Amino acid sequence: KASPLGHSVIPIINKLQDILAQLGSQSTIDLPQVAVVGSQSSGKSSVLEALVGRDFLPRGSDICTRRPLVLQLVRTKRKADGTDEEYGEFLHVSGKRFYDFSEIRREVQNETDREAGDNKGVSDRQIRLKIFSPNVLDITLVDLPGLTKVPVGDQPSDIEARIRTMIMSYIKVPSCLILAVSPANADLANSDALQMAGMADPDGHRTIGVITKLDIMDRGTDARNLLLGKVISLRLGYVGVVNRSQEDIMLNRSIKDALVAEEKFFRSRPVYNGLADRCGVPQLAKKLNQILVQHIKAVLPGLKSRISTALVSVAKEHASYGEITESEAGQGALILNILSKYSEAFSSIVEGKNEEMSTS
Ligand code: GDP
Ligand code: MG
Repeated sequence: KASPLGHSVIPIINKLQDILAQLGSQSTIDLPQVAVVGSQSSGKSSVLEALVGRDFLPRGSDICTRRPLVLQLVRTKRKADGTDEEYGEFLHVSGKRFYDFSEIRREVQNETDREAGDNKGVSDRQIRLKIFSPNVLDITLVDLPGLTKVPVGDQPSDIEARIRTMIMSYIKVPSCLILAVSPANADLANSDALQMAGMADPDGHRTIGVITKLDIMDRGTDARNLLLGKVISLRLGYVGVVNRSQEDIMLNRSIKDALVAEEKFFRSRPVYNGLADRCGVPQLAKKLNQILVQHIKAVLPGLKSRISTALVSVAKEHASYGEITESEAGQGALILNILSKYSEAFSSIVEGKNEEMSTS
């Protein structure tokens, strides 16, 4: 029951991280952060939750996300008896493990109120949450408040500018992957998500378009042209998704059921035939994975050379101590050997995967 974010690539990346961890912290691969941007209620929190595969974020038709939530996924070892232990920890609640994910949601809400008040105020102070699970990649996701135009509640008159600045501070970072979320039932030309992503990432090499609410488009319309990039083109393309509606949330419908319903939605609509690689949360996860794999391929050679340099200097140092060093250097060489083999195997798996993708 791995979460959609991962599937095939999770085990490969995680194994690689395990090998690297033995070499010390300077040789781990930092995976890029992933941030969501879009207007309020476009479905950003819903998309993140579906990717993680657990219910734990406040969602709703009003402003829910009012502080940046930095969500760090941390992979843990599976327990010996094969059961999965999953829990969350907040930076601001030291020493407490949250095993109940609805309690995590309540704590996000309460902590939002503590800093930003309970009358729709927005704050740029982060909430930091770690989710520990054997089913995740070590990756950081950022849920951000959505863009709004008209101040409500305790919001200051310059709320729009403030939120823009906050969002920009995350998505302008060159290594940040951007999920630009736009609802299918509004005109894409008015999309705040695409507008901001376009400013932060003008060549579009780190922006994935996500179209939500395909289930509630106007009768007689569909998202085919949106998904094909015929309305506004995006270098990395679009994925259409169907998240849970407000009614589903009120009825406590699970993420698992929602994913099944989403699949059924696409299967039962001929207009989306032939667009399978652009439809559904699992496809979005796959796309993200491919980008992460590209990233890892790009950083592997540098990593290898850092390790060989370190190895040479360690071997020299050891040689200066005399005899016993032989075996130590031998161990280093062994690890380097393993790593080289690994990166070759990794590349071939990745290339195999890409071929499979382009022919499907
Ligand atoms: P955010 O403000 O961008 O984080 O949006 P949320 O994830 O909180 O969602 C806002 C509202 O839209 C909630 O009531 C969701 O249930 C609803 N929603 C989000 N995505 C979809 C979708 O694909 N279909 C439907 N019918 N409702 C959705
Ligand atoms: Mg939200």
